[in-house]
Order: sequence, then structure tokens, then C-alpha cells
Amino acid sequence: MRREQVYWGWGEPGAGPVMGESAAALLRDALGVPGEVVSPPVAADAVRLRPAADAPALRAALAAAVGEAHVRSDDAIRLLRAAGKSYLDLLALRAGDAGEAPDLVAAPGSAEEVASVLRACAEAGAAVVPFGGGTSVVGGVAGERGGFDAVVCLDLARMDRVLGVDVLSRRAVVGGGIRLPELDHALGAHGLRLGHHPQSYEWVTAGGCAATRSAGQASTGFGRFDDLVAAVRCVTPAGELAPLGAPGSAAGPDLTRLVLGSEGTLGVIAELTLQVRPVAEATRYEAWAVPSFAEGCEMLRALAQDEVAPDVARLSDGPETGLTLALGGLPQVLRDRQGDRCLLIAGWEGDADAIGARRSAAARRVRGLRLGRSFGEGWISHRYDGPHLRDDLMDRGVLVETLETATTWNRLEATHAAVGAALAGALAATPPVVGCHVSHIYPDGASLYFTVLAAADRDDPAGQWLRAKRAAGDAIAAAGATITHHHAVGRDHAPWLEAEAGATGLAALRAVKAELDPAGIMNPGKLLP
Ligand SMILES: Cc1cc2nc3c(=O)[nH]c(=O)nc-3n(C[C@H](O)[C@H](O)[C@H](O)COP(=O)(O)OP(=O)(O)OC[C@H]3O[C@@H](n4cnc5c(N)ncnc54)[C@H](O)[C@@H]3O)c2cc1C
Repeated sequence: MRREQVYWGWGEPGAGPVMGESAAALLRDALGVPGEVVSPPVAADAVRLRPAADAPALRAALAAAVGEAHVRSDDAIRLLRAAGKSYLDLLALRAGDAGEAPDLVAAPGSAEEVASVLRACAEAGAAVVPFGGGTSVVGGVAGERGGFDAVVCLDLARMDRVLGVDVLSRRAVVGGGIRLPELDHALGAHGLRLGHHPQSYEWVTAGGCAATRSAGQASTGFGRFDDLVAAVRCVTPAGELAPLGAPGSAAGPDLTRLVLGSEGTLGVIAELTLQVRPVAEATRYEAWAVPSFAEGCEMLRALAQDEVAPDVARLSDGPETGLTLALGGLPQVLRDRQGDRCLLIAGWEGDADAIGARRSAAARRVRGLRLGRSFGEGWISHRYDGPHLRDDLMDRGVLVETLETATTWNRLEATHAAVGAALAGALAATPPVVGCHVSHIYPDGASLYFTVLAAADRDDPAGQWLRAKRAAGDAIAAAGATITHHHAVGRDHAPWLEAEAGATGLAALRAVKAELDPAGIMNPGKLLP
């Protein structure tokens, strides 16, 4: 049996760290939230599910496609497949609202069975939502029927195998539904790994990362997920899109790239060929306190442009540095001495000698107080804690959400200021803590990742966040930055896509969709506004 997360939060029951006393004190001091549990999730049997569509012919066709045992319509599975893991998703589920649960859940075991499921759905007129790890934070797996009578969750859980490893070429062929920890574990037997570590690492799938163009914590050094995909086997309602994927091919526009970021709207990524790397011989993580966010950004620009960037580079702004110090339990007297100083974490992984040389080249460009390796290694050992602590915060009535963007170096500071101001303005009634860090750096720019904490509005918590998110999205678009650096578009960012892709770009995407998905059954309401 594949492991499942709790429907109302992150991870398996009881897994992960719990909120400590320093965090509770922060809630009281900074947000005015009492720190006690005020809004726990309702029990599973109290959740309201949309009545399942009555579709016996569709169910029979799905059973013929994948086997009776792999088609389910019980409330337990419908609830687990009802939504992703955004603040809005969890708010609704915790309050007992699973209004977008799919009608049926079908789990194919091969690309051929995926094709049969799509055929059955097209013939019956049912929408299809591909479901990988279900960690979307942009409404990507919401069970929208999109004008059809039923919606089928196409669960990739059974497509979770490593299908082949070419050690010589350092490539692995994997099923779209394999989770990254299991993939790294299987590759480890060959002395290899993928090295892609989003904060959602514990639960994400390879197919989901490709469909959303994910970025991992070491993507500055190892490349984004896009860069790791050599080829895909994408099953669409019109047929298979499976370009050869030879290295360095110049055979026309790259069709593999067309599939990356398509978010289940064109077809299902049934298999991927991934570029993999040797298991790291050594790692080194360390931290500095740099004089200010602006100066830290200048240092990061120099690292990227001089081609000496670490594999992981994260620079927190003042509020996020303060938050990190407070959550780490640092005494107030030391926190008071933070001033404008900002926390910079840098990490290197790979060959021990090469790390030494790369680290020295980078450290020469960093001006600041060296905090040492224990701080950096502390970050590594707690890097997956955030989503677990979010559950504790939501229990205590805290609005807690993140959003991200990227822009060129010349616009970075203005974008940082504009988005921060938009969030603070929209949440002025419950003054928030808005922290931000640069999470990935490139020679021509960087990403900005914002974390927002505020006292949740007890009467309308969803409306409170929707207004703040709209203000932030508008500020991002006005600043000429991207609406998403790695969370993808889904449903939540679709209103801003035209500003970024242009009218002709959108028309081109729609034309591709019309060709590959003529009935429009694939993930309605996502990506395309
Ligand atoms: C706490 C938290 C932290 C996160 N941190 C990061 C981060 O550091 N970096 C990052 O990039 N993202 C992050 N995310 C967002 C999310 O984890 C990514 O978008 C991830 O790539 C989604 O993978 P998944 O397998 O969970 O896909 P799902 O959530 O199941 O699906 C995402 C989208 O892709 C489609 N899809 C899924 N599988 C397939 C397939 N095989 N074929 C076609 N379409 C498919 C779905 O229909 C949906 O539209 C985070 C999310 C959470 C909740």
C-alpha cells in the first residue's frame, strides 16, 4: 500500500516536528495570536463531499481499462484526492469542505492503461485530473468538472517504478508516479541520485515535478527539474507525444519542453528519462550574516555572474532573518543586535576536492560575519520542517502561506519592495510578518520567495488571503516579474498568464491543446485562463 498524507495537512499522522515554545512566543508577540489550538481540523466523517456523479458506464469502462481493483469511488479516496496543499486547500478541508472531490479515482499501471483511461473518459465525456503527489499549491489538482458530467482523478500511484538505468550515460527511465525519495533510494543502488530537493521532496512525484517545472533547493547548482529531463512519454487523448530525446538534438522545436509545465492540460507524463548524477562524496553547508539584503543580493549576483555560485544559495531579508532567529530560540538580546544583517546560507555538494576549491572561490566574494558550518548544517537538517509546522500554525488560527516570483537583477529590489508592500497593505487589518528570501540565482536574475504570517480572519479567512494574493499577483505583474518561478500556474495564477505569455502566446497554447486534447477533457480550468 502506498503511504498517504493526512487530508487536512502535511505528512502522515504524527510525523514531523511540532511547534516549540519559541514559535508560540513569536505568535503572541508578533501576531497577537494567543498560541493555543483554536481551529483544529474536523474529523474525516464530518467532511462534506460533493455527491458523486452517477456514471455506471464510465466506471465499467475504467474498470475494463485498469482492472476493477484500481477504480474507486469511496469517500475515503475521494477525500484524499480532493485538493492540493495550498493554504486555501487546507482551510477548506480543515473546515469540512471537500466540494471538489473527484467522482472516480482510476489508477493505471502503464502508459497503455493511461491511454485506455483517456479513451474511456473522452467517450463518456468526463474530465481527467492527473494526480501525482498532490502537493500542488496553485489549485492544480482541484477536481473541476469543467462543464462535463463527471471528473476522474487519474492517480499515478501505480506508475512508481524505475524502469531502467543507463549508468554509462547517467540516465534513468522512471514511471511518472514515482516519488522522489523512492527514486533516489533506487538510484542509490547504482551510486547515483537525482539531486532534486523541493521543500515538498518527501511526497512529490517525478511526473508532477516535470508537469510543474519544479525547482529544488539545489537547483542553482544542479539545474531546475526542466534541466534534468532528457525525454518524456506523454500520453494525450490524441496519441503519444514521445520525442526521441537525444542529447543536444537540433531537430526542430523541442517537443519535450512543450510537455514540461503543461500541468496535466495536454496529457499524462507516463514515463520520463532523467539525467542523474553520482551520489555526493561530500557536502558542505555554512552561513554568513551579511550587512544588508541589498548588499547580499549584490554578492549573489557576483557569485552567479563570475560562475562561482554554490549549489544552494539562499539569502533571507531582514524580517525573515528575524523570524528564523526567533524560531531558532535565539535570546532577544542577540536578536536585538541583528540590525540590518541578513542570513545567507550557502551549500556545496559533490567531489570533496572540488567543493574545497569552489567554496574558497565563493567565500572570497562574501563580505559578512561568518556564522560557520553548524548554522548551515542546521538549515539542512530542518529543511523539510516548514510544512509540518504550518499545520500547527493553522491549528492556532494563523494565516500562513508562501508565494514566489523571479526577475532580473536590475528589478529585484523594486520587486521585493513592491510585493512586500502589497501584502502588508492588503493585510493591514491583521498586521502580518512578511519575510522573503532569494532562493535561486542565475547570471541574469534571481527568485524571491515570500512567507506571510498573520492572525487569520475568523469570519472570512479565505477572502482575507485571496485579497492579499491578488494584491501580490498584481504587484508582481506590474513589476514585470514572473507570476511563478516554480509553483506553476494551476488555477490560482491563470488570471496573470496572459500578461506574461501575451495574447499570441496564449492562442498558441490553446491551439496545441485543441490538437492534443480535442474534447478538452484534460485538467479543465488549469493553466489556461
Ligand atoms: C509545503 C510545500 C512546499 C513546496 N516546495 C516546493 C519547492 O521547493 N519547489 C517547487 O518547485 N515546488 C514546491 N511546491 C509545490 C509542489 O510540490 C510542486 O508543484 C510539485 O512539483 C508538484 O508535484 P506533485 O507530484 O505533488 O504533483 P501534483 O500536485 O499531483 O500535480 C501538480 C500538477 O501537475 C499535474 N500532474 C501531476 N502529475 C502529472 C503527470 N504525471 N502527468 C501530467 N500532469 C501531471 C497535475 O494535474 C497538477 O496540475 C511545494 C508545495 C508544498 C505543499
